[in-house]
Amino acid sequence: MVLAIAAGIPCFGVVAAFGVAPDTLVDKLQVERIVQQITLPQPVAIDQNDAHAYVNESLVQRGDTVAALLARLEVDDPEAVAFMRGSRDNRVLAQMRPGRSVRAETTADGTLQRLTYLASSGDVITIQRGENGFNVLQDTAELDVEPLRGAGEIKSSLFAATDAAGLPDSIATQLAEIFSSQVDFHRDLRKGDRFAVVYEAFRHGGELVKYGRILAAEFINGGRVHQAVWFEATHGQGGYYTPEGKSLRRAFLRSPLEFSRISSGFTHARFHPILQTWTAHRGIDYAAPTGTRVRTTGDGVVAFAGRQGGYGNIVVVQHAAHYRTYYAHLSAFAAGIRTGSRVAQGDFVGYVGQSGLATGPHLHYEFHINGVEQDPMRLALPEAVPITRHLRAGFDANAIPLIHQLHLMQSVRLARLD
Ligand SMILES: [Zn+2]
Repeated sequence: MVLAIAAGIPCFGVVAAFGVAPDTLVDKLQVERIVQQITLPQPVAIDQNDAHAYVNESLVQRGDTVAALLARLEVDDPEAVAFMRGSRDNRVLAQMRPGRSVRAETTADGTLQRLTYLASSGDVITIQRGENGFNVLQDTAELDVEPLRGAGEIKSSLFAATDAAGLPDSIATQLAEIFSSQVDFHRDLRKGDRFAVVYEAFRHGGELVKYGRILAAEFINGGRVHQAVWFEATHGQGGYYTPEGKSLRRAFLRSPLEFSRISSGFTHARFHPILQTWTAHRGIDYAAPTGTRVRTTGDGVVAFAGRQGGYGNIVVVQHAAHYRTYYAHLSAFAAGIRTGSRVAQGDFVGYVGQSGLATGPHLHYEFHINGVEQDPMRLALPEAVPITRHLRAGFDANAIPLIHQLHLMQSVRLARLD
């Protein structure tokens, strides 16, 4: 059984669109952090010598016009509107994307001094008032990276704890993704679980522009310590490893449900009143809002996607030779999911619903080995390839100081509680 799972390992990570393969995972998260995480600075006076200088920040909205965006930024400046609408030098404005943050510095009467935003290219674009009108500056290499740290304890939910610790959502989500083969963050969290993270923040001219990836993390779940360190053996080819150099990747994710602020807070109280336990109905139920994304827990081929009796809309994925996973009661299938489709671990196969026999929106998940239902929580999943011997020194040089920081954070936090 273990050998069959292991046979699947060399394949995964190649085409995963989302999930545990660290390289693609990070691509995905980089997109998210840019889309969602650049809203931080509050309006403040920017120049101590000029009490009339103000900074405002706003997110680009779908269908935004220059005038609407500038109005939200409290820019009252026809010259600026005309420039941004009309200038041929201004094709960079096409790089503004919905969800991105734009910052305007104005005088008290709304005259634009400077407009700054992060373009889709990753460049910082600055439109600056000069003596002869506005200039457009494009800035590539000005982001400074700085490690930040945070630690906390679970009292109600992961997001409540990361909020209390001052961590951004992108870091909370990454934390769950990094340990997604070790911990089911929808079901396994316990009051008193603890975490500590070291993560990147990118600054531009001192201002926080975006958050990067987690460099090291510790998650203590039900007394079990899980640790992860980011390591890039060659540029662009990185992953998360234990301090001993074992990869955190596994053939299967613990949870088939996308982890998000919304899905993580959904109550498990109100469905399958009779068939609550795995032994009673041979699967695991995940209560989640209708529309929450469902992902395949391992690489495979869709053996069935359609309607099937009490299961309602169901996707069945065949993994290697002996494994099948079932995702039932879906409200809809993900685009491109049909019988015969190839899927990679973490790919979305559908959306939570209550089709078939279901008393509320939830995902019914089954894991079969050789046609027999198994409790996936009880399976020991084989490990992926560890750090090779010739990379070991480099890995240790990177990992040991990070792990030391995690320990320091936990002990400082515990000392405060005493
Ligand atoms: Zn069920």
